[in-house]
Amino acid sequence: MELLEGMGKRTVVTANQRLAHHLTQRFHAWQRRQGKRAWESPDILPLSAWIERTYEEAALDGDKRLPLSPFQEQVLWQRIIEASPYGEGLLHAAATAKKAQEAWSLLHAWHIPLESLDAHFSEDVQAFLEWAKVFRDRCQQEGWLDTSRLPEAIAPTGGMPPLALGFLETTPQQQALFQRFGIEPLPLPAFHGAPLRVAMTDRLRELEAAAKWAKALIEDAECPPSIAILMPDLPSLREQVIQCFDEHLCPPSLLPRPVHARPYNLSLGRPLGEEPVVQSALLSLRLLKGLTLEETGLWLRSPFLGEGETERLERALLDARLRERRISRFSLHDLLEAASGSCPGLATRLRALSPPPPYRSPRAWARAFDALLRTLGWPGERSLSSQEYQALQAWKGLLEAFSGLGGVWPSMSLSSALAQIEHQAHETLFQPQTPEVPIQVLGMLEAIGMTFDHLWVMGLDDNQWPPAPAPNPFIPLALQRRHNLPGSSAERELAYARRITRQLARSAPRILFSHPLRERDQAKRPSPLIAAFPQGTLSLGEAPSYPALILRSRRMETFSDVSGPPLPPGTLVEGGKDVFKLQSACPFRAFARLRLGATSLARAEGFNAADRGILLHRVMERLWRFLESHGRLCDMGEEALGAQVSRAIQEAVEETARRLPHTLTPRLAEIEKARLFEQVMACLALEKGRSPFRASPEVKKTVEVGGIAVCVRADRVDVLEGGEVVIMDYKTGEAKIQHWEGERPEDPQLPLYALGMEGVAALCLAQVSQEGIAMEGIAAREDIIPRLRAIGEEGWQAQLKRWAEVLERLGRDFQKGCAQVDPKDAQACRYCEISTLCRIHER
Ligand code: SF4
Repeated sequence: MELLEGMGKRTVVTANQRLAHHLTQRFHAWQRRQGKRAWESPDILPLSAWIERTYEEAALDGDKRLPLSPFQEQVLWQRIIEASPYGEGLLHAAATAKKAQEAWSLLHAWHIPLESLDAHFSEDVQAFLEWAKVFRDRCQQEGWLDTSRLPEAIAPTGGMPPLALGFLETTPQQQALFQRFGIEPLPLPAFHGAPLRVAMTDRLRELEAAAKWAKALIEDAECPPSIAILMPDLPSLREQVIQCFDEHLCPPSLLPRPVHARPYNLSLGRPLGEEPVVQSALLSLRLLKGLTLEETGLWLRSPFLGEGETERLERALLDARLRERRISRFSLHDLLEAASGSCPGLATRLRALSPPPPYRSPRAWARAFDALLRTLGWPGERSLSSQEYQALQAWKGLLEAFSGLGGVWPSMSLSSALAQIEHQAHETLFQPQTPEVPIQVLGMLEAIGMTFDHLWVMGLDDNQWPPAPAPNPFIPLALQRRHNLPGSSAERELAYARRITRQLARSAPRILFSHPLRERDQAKRPSPLIAAFPQGTLSLGEAPSYPALILRSRRMETFSDVSGPPLPPGTLVEGGKDVFKLQSACPFRAFARLRLGATSLARAEGFNAADRGILLHRVMERLWRFLESHGRLCDMGEEALGAQVSRAIQEAVEETARRLPHTLTPRLAEIEKARLFEQVMACLALEKGRSPFRASPEVKKTVEVGGIAVCVRADRVDVLEGGEVVIMDYKTGEAKIQHWEGERPEDPQLPLYALGMEGVAALCLAQVSQEGIAMEGIAAREDIIPRLRAIGEEGWQAQLKRWAEVLERLGRDFQKGCAQVDPKDAQACRYCEISTLCRIHER
C-alpha cells in the first residue's frame, strides 16, 4: 500500500522493463479499487531509460556529447574490429563486437580502469585493449557518448529523488549514481510463504503440469489470480512452452491466424527477424542480391507481398516449377522472367524495381529499402493481426535506427547494409504488447521485485541452477574474479543464484520449486539450492488436454474406404515400371502418386545419384548404338575403343550440361567424365568375356498385365546366337536379384520386361559403382552369361510363371483401385514423399 502511494508521488526506477510494466499495472488496479475514475499516470521506468531521459534534461556541466544508440555503438565496435589486424581472421565480427561491447560495459559498471588490463594475459585481451582504445579515442574526437559512460554524465537537478525497486545487486557504478542522486532502493517484497519442492518425470511433464496447474487455479478462482511460472532456460525452451501452453490453455491459438488472446504472456520475446511479416521484408531486400531456392519458395508463398492472397495459388505453382529447374540461386532477373505470364501482379512489381547503386549512406539505404518494400506491396493486401501490426511498427523503428548509422558508417555497400539490417533484426527481441493476462512466464531475474498470488519456479536441476560461470573472454579471469564480476566464477554464480532463490521464495504466498528427474537418458537431481525445501506432491486430478477432450467427445461414424474407382480394363497407365513397384511397396502410395498425382516439392540438390545414373545410361546407349554387337566390341583395339567411349561420354555430358546448366558445372563435368571413362571401360572388359550377341539399346515395349497396360523401356536387349534374349539393366545404386522375389517384390522391373518379350532366357543387372563392376542375375542356362545364377530350363519357366502371377495380381489390384495404407515394411515408408498425406505416423 505504502509503495503504491509512493509510486503516485515519486519517480520509480526499476531493474528492468517488465518490472516497470508490472508496477504500473498494479498502480492502475489499485486506483480502480479505490473507486477512482481518473488519476495521474505514475512515473515508473527502467533505470536505463531514466538515465537517458535525465541526460537529455540535465547533462552534467552542459555536456554536449551526442549519446550513441545501442545500434550505433555496436556498429562502431564492429567497424573498429574489422579494420584492426585481428579483424581478418574473424568469421563473425558482429558476434565479437557484441562481446567486446559487453566487456567495455562491465569495466565501466565495476569501475575497472582500462589500463589495469594486462595485455600480456592473452591475445584476446591484447586485441580488446587495442579496440577499446580506438573506441575511446573515436568517441572523444567525434563528441560521442556511449551508454556505458552515460550514468557518469548526468547530474541531479533538485526535486524528489526517485525510488528504486528490483535491484537484487547493484554495480559500483549504480551505487555511485544512487548516492549522487539520493536514490532510495526500496526493500524487495517479502511474503511469508511455505515453498514446496516437487519432482517431475521430465521437462515436458513439468511444462504440462505447470500449464494444467495454472488452468486449474484460474478456473477455481472467483477473480483471476496473478500466476507466474519461471524457468532459468526459458530462451531455449520458448517454442516448447508456447506449444504446450497453447495446447492446454488456449487451443484456438494453434489455428492459423488465431483470434483468441492467450491467457498467458511469455517474456523475452523472439528475434524480430523471425516474425513472418519481418521475415518477408528481409527476404524482399535480399532479393537484390539473389535468393536461394528455399528462400525463393518462402518469399513467393508469403502473404505479405502485394497480391499475395489473390495470386497465392499461381505463386505456389511457380515455386513448384522453379524447384524443378534445379537452380540453387535466383536473381531478380530470373524471378521476373519466371513470374511473367503466370503471376502478372508479381511480375509487374518486380519489373518496377531497379538495381541500386553500389554505395550509399545508411539513410539513403533505409529510404531505398522502404521504397522497395512499398513497390513489392509489402505488407500485403489482407489486414494485419495485432502481433503483425506491432512487428511492422518494430520494423519501422529498426529501419529508423539503421538510418541513424551515418555518423559511424557514412557510406556502405548493399551487402553491408543488408548484413547490418539482418543482424539487427535477429538481435532485436520482439515482445508484442498484450492485454493484462493472469499468467506470466518469465526468466528468473525478471521476477525479482514482482509479487504474485501463485509462483512456480521450474527446471531447477543441479545442471541448470546455479548456472555455469561464463566469464567474458576479453577481461583477464583473475581480474574478473578480483572484482567479482558476473559469470566470473562458480562461487559467484552459486552465491548470486542463492540470493535469487531466496528472494523468489518470498515473492508469493504459494510457491512451488520443481525439477525434472530425467532428461533424455540422463538422471537429474534437484539443485542444491532447493534441496532444503520440504518435498510436496502435486495433485492435478484428471485434467485432459483440449485435444484429448475433443477426441473423447467425438461422435464418429466409421467408414472404411480403401479403394478408388477402378480403371477400365486395358487402360494404359502412366508411370511404366513404377506402377508395379509402388503397388508392391504400398497400395496407397501407388494410388496417390499415379492416380492422384500427389508428389512432394523438389529440393535444392546438386548433381545427385539419380543424375549420375541417367548420365551413365546415356553413355551406354550411345556406345551400344555404335557397337551393335559383341563381335564389334571384341574387334576394336583398345585405343579405338577408348576414343569411342570418350566420344560417347563427351556427348552425354554435353547433353546433360544443357539440361542442368547450373548443376553440372564445367569443373564437375571434367570429374564426371574421368569417373565414367574408368567405369565404362571396366564394364566393356567384362562384356568381352561373354558369348557373342547382338545388342539393342533402349528397347521400348507396351506390356499388358493384370488388366492394365504400361510402357516400359529396357536399357538393353541382347540377342544371343541361338536366338535367346537377355535383358540388361544398368544400375548405379543398390540393386539385388532378391528384389525380384516374393509376393511383394521390391523392384519387379526386369521380371515385368521379361513378361513383355518373347524368348527371354536371362535377366541381368550390370552394377556400375565406385566399388567396381559386377553382373548379377538369373538365367535359364549357365552358358548364357557365366556369372548369372543358372536355374535350368524348367526352373526358368517356373520362375517366369511365378513372376507373371505376382505381377498379374499387383496389376489387377491397381486396376481395381486398391489403395490401402499398407506399407510392405518400415523401409517402404522411409523415403516415401507422401507420408503427410497417408498420415501413417498418426496411427
Ligand atoms: S508413408 Fe508408408 S504408408 Fe504412407 S504412403 Fe508412403 S509407403 Fe504408404
